[in-house]
Amino acid sequence: MGAQAASPAGRVPAGGVYYRRPFSDLKRARPFLNESTHRSELPVIIPRAEHPISRSHIASSALKVLYRLKEAGFQAFLVGGCVRDIAIGLQPKDFDVATDASPDEVRALFRSCRLIGRRFRLAHVRFGSHIIEVATFRAAHDPGDDEDAEEERQGIVDDAGLEGEDDFDDEASDDEDEEDDDGPLPVEARPSRNPDGQRVLNERGRVLRDNLYGTIDQDVWRRDFTCNGLYYNIADFSIWDYVGGVADVRSRTLRLIGDPDTRYREDPVRMLRAVRFQAKLGFTMAPATREPIPRLAGLLDGIPPARLFDEFQKLFLTGFARRAYELLVEHGLFEHLFPATAAQLEPEADGMFGRLLLAGLDATDQRVADGRAVTPMFLFAVLLFGPVSVGAQRRFEGGMKASQAIAEACDEVMRRQAQRIGLPKRFSIPMREMLALQPRFHQRAGRRALGFLSHPRFRAAYDFLLLRVGAGGEDPAIGQWWTEIQGLPQDERLARAEALRPEPQQDGA
Ligand code: ATP
Ligand code: MG
Repeated sequence: MGAQAASPAGRVPAGGVYYRRPFSDLKRARPFLNESTHRSELPVIIPRAEHPISRSHIASSALKVLYRLKEAGFQAFLVGGCVRDIAIGLQPKDFDVATDASPDEVRALFRSCRLIGRRFRLAHVRFGSHIIEVATFRAAHDPGDDEDAEEERQGIVDDAGLEGEDDFDDEASDDEDEEDDDGPLPVEARPSRNPDGQRVLNERGRVLRDNLYGTIDQDVWRRDFTCNGLYYNIADFSIWDYVGGVADVRSRTLRLIGDPDTRYREDPVRMLRAVRFQAKLGFTMAPATREPIPRLAGLLDGIPPARLFDEFQKLFLTGFARRAYELLVEHGLFEHLFPATAAQLEPEADGMFGRLLLAGLDATDQRVADGRAVTPMFLFAVLLFGPVSVGAQRRFEGGMKASQAIAEACDEVMRRQAQRIGLPKRFSIPMREMLALQPRFHQRAGRRALGFLSHPRFRAAYDFLLLRVGAGGEDPAIGQWWTEIQGLPQDERLARAEALRPEPQQDGA
């Protein structure tokens, strides 16, 4: 391995180590780097010729941000999931940029830029509906800051519905690719620098660099997994690796940076992230990364429901819900997210509700694979149908009408569930309606029954009916009747429905 002390980007920590063997050959060259007692400020630097990440993999909006920062004299790196995803041949979901420019300096460079966060501020540069998140290198670790930033991120997602989560689309129109601005502000408008390049005060005398912001070799240690701790340098297209991330990506190993126990306690959501990356990437958890999870799973109980909902969506709505569910159960995490469901399924995982749940997750994954829309309302119905059914049955036996029994049971289950993962009302109301409509599939006789076909919630309710039929929880003839009737012209529909008269009114939960 050839090592050099030179610096291609000007401000490389002196002595950065260049790695000169093919990317595919790279062993965990400096395994000791990922030890809290041996933190190094020296990255292994993999030159462009020896790693597979090319600019053609990077969204043009992200490249524009990187180049503009670089041209203004700042360090600019891609970091996190995008580097990891490109390295293993996946299309990144979004592009995160890390820089030594302060948030105000970033804002001065981009007109369509908004700063978010209370203490630690992040810059969001908007290109049409896409956002490139630009984070200033963060100094020594303060987990409280992570939560601030996370809450703020959620604020942004809520503001924009779920649009902030949209994939980058290579075929985005030119409009979307253009930042909504006319280029950088004139240099005079930028914050002042002192002679050695350290930014201290802006023109109003506000301190820009306090102890929150730091250098890349401080920033890396707050990141979660080694595969997420790789930096792609726009100055010379090299990759900087402080934590053995290249070797871990190569061997498909998921490894927490630093001491796993400490890192999970700092932020228990990292346990869910571990499962997500295991499911999404097919990585294997390093034993020390896996071991504490069942022991610390209870720490999730202290995480705000809104943050868990955000994480829930990433786990269950991005194409690997089945695998994520199985891993959550395996690691003892599922019972902290959906306690009522877990308690009900534990003794009878192969029962009707267990089968319905798995089929619902598979159907969701299939929809994502087909590029069709998926909604948390359907997923929640799938995940909570067991507990809702038990509550509904009790009420039904007590003499309540089936649809009302379901609606009330739904409210009760959701009230408890909201203490763990909250489902926003815009999803929970349609979910309740979809479930309460299930008994209506039993009413097939006459014109009035056919009116159901034009109910705004019919399609979702029908999809759910098919899941129930498939799991053995409903008469297949009912599913078949509603499938066939949809394929018939209006007059034949009516003939079929009239032919069923007189039919005894069935009304089962
Ligand atoms: P993806 O975008 O595919 O969901 P990601 O790894 O990019 O995965 P993000 O949530 O976009 O995840 O976060 C970007 C980067 O920020 C991560 O790669 C990681 O380095 C860091 N990060 C995010 N959340 C945490 C956390 N809870 N603890 C430590 N580092 C985190
Ligand atoms: Mg990301």
